[in-house]
Amino acid sequence: MRLLITGGAGFIGSALIRYLIKNTKNTILNIDKLTYAGNLESLLSISSHKRYQFQKIDICDQTALEAAFSSFKPDAVMHLAAESHVDRSLTGPAAFIETNIVGTYTLLEVSRKYWEKLPSQQQDSFRFHHISTDEVFGDLANTTDLFVETTPYAPSSPYSASKASSDHLVRAWRRSYGLPTVISNCSNNYGPYQFPEKLIPLMITNALKGKPLPVYGAGDQIRDWLYVNDHAKALYAVLTKGSVGETYNIGGHNEMRNIDVVTMICDLLGEKMDGQDFRKLITFVTDRAGHDLRYAIDASKIERELGWTPDVTFKEGLEQTIQWYLDHPQWWERIFNGRYLETNNAIT
Ligand code: NAD
Repeated sequence: MRLLITGGAGFIGSALIRYLIKNTKNTILNIDKLTYAGNLESLLSISSHKRYQFQKIDICDQTALEAAFSSFKPDAVMHLAAESHVDRSLTGPAAFIETNIVGTYTLLEVSRKYWEKLPSQQQDSFRFHHISTDEVFGDLANTTDLFVETTPYAPSSPYSASKASSDHLVRAWRRSYGLPTVISNCSNNYGPYQFPEKLIPLMITNALKGKPLPVYGAGDQIRDWLYVNDHAKALYAVLTKGSVGETYNIGGHNEMRNIDVVTMICDLLGEKMDGQDFRKLITFVTDRAGHDLRYAIDASKIERELGWTPDVTFKEGLEQTIQWYLDHPQWWERIFNGRYLETNNAIT
């Protein structure tokens, strides 16, 4: 297949591309605007591969997208490009509306017009896979319920509201125009190459720098963590085996309170670093506005219908992640000092 992947310079997109180059024969066009979250250094291991190419494109730019579709001729689109950090959505929601809603709309329209001109056999096999989040379902506080694919949408933040909007647009393009779409909603990811503004890499890198480990409120928020390489495998299963028009929830059966995640990081890091006490760096800070207390995914549909299950436990994945950050200080130090942008500028 020829796969057009948006947001491939981000955390999950780069993991997906590394997975696809290593484990499949597909050819990939990575389209990314290279915002602060895009980092071409995450793709250095595969960037000269003959089945990989990159174009710097904003998904709101219809003309540039049309040119990319007509020259690359994709068999499928995997759409990951998004503004993804809830805290940034609280201080600057405009970019979330623009990329997550207007950008998804623009990509859907360009995909639809391209798809309508394909021969009928290729029309049938074409896929538009929209990658979304469990945050669209809102807060599971005061219940032991899990999110299922039919849970009503109740987003809380500008981020989750913009992702919910994009999910609705994708369903409308399926129903109104027949575009062969599939949606996946995943829980919190962690793993190598995650931008150190998100909880797990922030805690690891702050601990290694001897800086405070800021925990929102009392750290009672519960998230369901999934190792990013397990997510990449799930995405490929959804693309290749999922039924058109369906939604698949993806999760790791790993409900954990944030404070427990942070103390586990402190302890695992301490074991690797001569028994150092990192717990003393934990600092409780004012909670995020509108912070959802609990997310938890019922992933039984993708397990039953597509045969996917996660390969690693949370402890195994966290150990691998901590070791990766210990082994690759140059990757994250270049984010803190801004030098990763030189690679982005040089390659584009
Ligand atoms: P990320 O912020 O690490 O990467 C996003 C990528 O999109 C970056 O490379 C960025 O440059 C690119 N981008 C942003 N705006 C763009 C635009 N207008 N045009 C083209 N590219 C643009 O995000 P991530 O964590 O890799 O998440 C990827 C997708 O998965 C998102 O859609 C997100 O909502 C979803 N998701 C993330 C998680 C998670 O825990 N990280 C969980 C579930 C779902």
